[in-house]
Amino acid sequence: MGSTRRLLDELDGVDLFDVAAEMETGPVAGGWSDMNRMGFARRLHGSAFYLFHAGERQRTTSRPELVRRRRDGRAQAMAAFAFARVPHYCRMAAERGLSAADIRGAADLARLPILEPEDVRRLGDDLLPEGTRKEDLIALETSGSSGIPRTIHRDVRGALLDLASLARERAVARARLGRPPSRRTAVISTPGGTSPAVATAVRKHLWLPGPARPNERVFSVVDDPDLVLAELVNFAPRVVYGFGSGVGELLRIAIERGLEMPAPELVVFTSDPIPAEERRLIEERLGSVVLGSYRATEALALGFQCGHGTTYHLNDDVCPVRVVDDSGRPLPAGEPGSVVLSNLVCRGTVLLNYRLGDRAALEEELCACGCPLPRLSLSVGRDYERIDLGGGRSIHYSAIVPAFDALPAWRWQVEPLGPARLLIRIVPREGADLAGEPERLRSRVLERTGARIDVEIECVPELDRDQGGKVPGLARPQRGDA
Ligand SMILES: [Zn+2]
Repeated sequence: MGSTRRLLDELDGVDLFDVAAEMETGPVAGGWSDMNRMGFARRLHGSAFYLFHAGERQRTTSRPELVRRRRDGRAQAMAAFAFARVPHYCRMAAERGLSAADIRGAADLARLPILEPEDVRRLGDDLLPEGTRKEDLIALETSGSSGIPRTIHRDVRGALLDLASLARERAVARARLGRPPSRRTAVISTPGGTSPAVATAVRKHLWLPGPARPNERVFSVVDDPDLVLAELVNFAPRVVYGFGSGVGELLRIAIERGLEMPAPELVVFTSDPIPAEERRLIEERLGSVVLGSYRATEALALGFQCGHGTTYHLNDDVCPVRVVDDSGRPLPAGEPGSVVLSNLVCRGTVLLNYRLGDRAALEEELCACGCPLPRLSLSVGRDYERIDLGGGRSIHYSAIVPAFDALPAWRWQVEPLGPARLLIRIVPREGADLAGEPERLRSRVLERTGARIDVEIECVPELDRDQGGKVPGLARPQRGDA
């Protein structure tokens, strides 16, 4: 005992992060892929690595100076790596006369040109480190929803480093519940989505139970909700996790129909959010703790809600975020613009100063929860979602979103039918009095667009999902002459 205590005391003075940083920034494939051949060693190594970083992430949450130091250290290391090993960044640095010494911290990454989703598609393998074997990487297909399908390659080590930030949101859930959340989890997702692909790849490196986990079941958002609900009630999850639109719809229907199901203690939504009215219903009627988790293929754990308001705390030490205007200039706190991120740990497709496609505003004030990690307020709607008002004018879709605030509806959707023509679908709340609502909604929308446009309003029982299984607020035109 005495000697253990002495050892711990000694270690207290050593920054273990520096030791781990060496593992983090070692040669790309080498050690990790060699270990693929040895399941035991691989899992031992992977688990120790993951646990160390998850613990480290949790310990630094309340220490902003350490978060900044990690972030800037990682930014330096990643820039040195990218400028030496990744063809696109080698060329770009040479053209701009930049060297690794110019990047002393995350703020200096703004000196790089903004990498657009279209660039990622066009550059392809030029964003991968030289000498990387693709079979060592996890290939993730992303987003038809931006109209630019592209493949993001994730290295396992980078994915583990990214995922270690989830320790912070687990700590929030634990604090809110007063105990660790139950393991009985329903995942509401799509087959073949990012999460299953990452989980499968990463589990080979961790001591986690394999795919046949009795306490976890995946339910598909694209299946018939009646069948899914029957199975969900039967499974009786304590934690429900997944696409916000899917989670919200299923739990709302379960409540409306008075289905016999123990209320989940924890609901975590990712991808699209649970519509506000449904979130309120779930919190009030089921008493569940509802938290949002900000995730993307390009950054597996960008941020998390803490339960105070609907902003997200950012994992700034791993994926720092900037908010910029259309011409790439940084915007002050409170002003919504494009989310631009740098993933400082991914050594597959290297993404520095990359426009993610989301819209958000940085928050200046410290959060009431006391967590000093920077905060982001996500806007409804993707960056490129604009509404054509005719006559060469357009507005961002998020500009008309406040028009829906007072609407007695679970959810709603806007579909542009052509220039200056909108179709709005609403799913009315149970028993809501809709008299005069369409007229009021129409005038609020017109007020927000400030233009003479045609607004058609339709009440529907539910909204359709897109190919990715989400329910977009701004639907792609499906008919008409758009
Ligand atoms: Zn907070």
